[in-house]
Amino acid sequence: MIIVPEKEIAGLLGRAEAFDAVEAVFAAMSRGDAYNFPVIREAIGHADALYGFKSGFDRAGLSLGLKSGGYWPGNEAKGLTNHQSTVFLFDADTGQAKAVVGGNLLTALRTAAASSVSIKHLARADAKVLGMIGAGHQSAFQMRAAVEQRNFEKVIGWNLHPEMLSRLAETATELDLPFEAVDLNRLGAEADVIISITSSFDAILMDAQVTPGTHIACMGTDTKGKQEVEAALVARATVFTDEIAQAVTIGECQHAVSAGTKSEGDIVEIGAVINGTHPGRSSQDEVTLFDGTGVGLQDLAVASKVVDLAVEKGVATVVDF
Ligand code: NAD
Repeated sequence: MIIVPEKEIAGLLGRAEAFDAVEAVFAAMSRGDAYNFPVIREAIGHADALYGFKSGFDRAGLSLGLKSGGYWPGNEAKGLTNHQSTVFLFDADTGQAKAVVGGNLLTALRTAAASSVSIKHLARADAKVLGMIGAGHQSAFQMRAAVEQRNFEKVIGWNLHPEMLSRLAETATELDLPFEAVDLNRLGAEADVIISITSSFDAILMDAQVTPGTHIACMGTDTKGKQEVEAALVARATVFTDEIAQAVTIGECQHAVSAGTKSEGDIVEIGAVINGTHPGRSSQDEVTLFDGTGVGLQDLAVASKVVDLAVEKGVATVVDF
């Protein structure tokens, strides 16, 4: 069995590899070659922790396994990251344990890759202004991956906690782009692409604030009850997602679907656009929305790539198991 610890991941997997792995597995899901098993997420009644696992099988890439972990709110006080995850891969031919891979950085890379895939396939070609809602840990990864898809000239951002906006300003500077903190009216009016990546349980961005032609990647809503944009915006937009079953239960679509303003049948898997079986954006004025709920197959795809690279570069630890 191969072990790739968390500390090795940064030296092995870059944004380009994560992007390719995630785009390929979204395509495989839409072809019916890859599927996710039902997600488990439970409050374990210890350390205030939420624990669960996401699993699946990609017949095309032969990735079989699960990502296990969750949220331990007391970790920060111990000098640890609150979100903890580990990916376990199994040999699809024998069921034997194949690899254990640190999943924390991989989660950020695969989540940023997902919104980046949506921007590649759905944003207007002439998009110039990137709007960021959220300034937490994931936001910097999101911004870096997004700017690789269009010739953005400026980043604007809003966060509930303004003291966190420095993360967006610093990341934009690193990317050689000007940054401006704005209110939500300006963000909606000026951004061509908007990424939301927050822990919000109430709508932040309202339908009336968003101008025609915008592409929105809603990346924060991954649990029942969470919400980042007004349900009317989801109803108005042409909606794409990683997986429809997750979008309507734990994703941004849950609210519009339960209100009856969006039907499950109107939601399109992004893989269909990647495969060319759905045309994607149909006009310059269409509002497109990607509901990125985060699927286990994304984790397996990037972890499998890391294992290949670790073996290739001789940094994999191999143990008898
Ligand atoms: P973080 O704790 O570092 O940052 C949280 C962000 O949400 C900050 O911008 C904070 O200001 C904002 N926020 C907190 N409470 C809020 C509220 N009530 N209303 C509005 N904004 C609020 O978290 P992170 O690691 O950056 O993750 C952000 C979110 O992304 C989390 O909710 C996480 O579950 C989700 N996430 C989704 C995926 C996916 O695949 N879709 C993957 C990883 C993380």
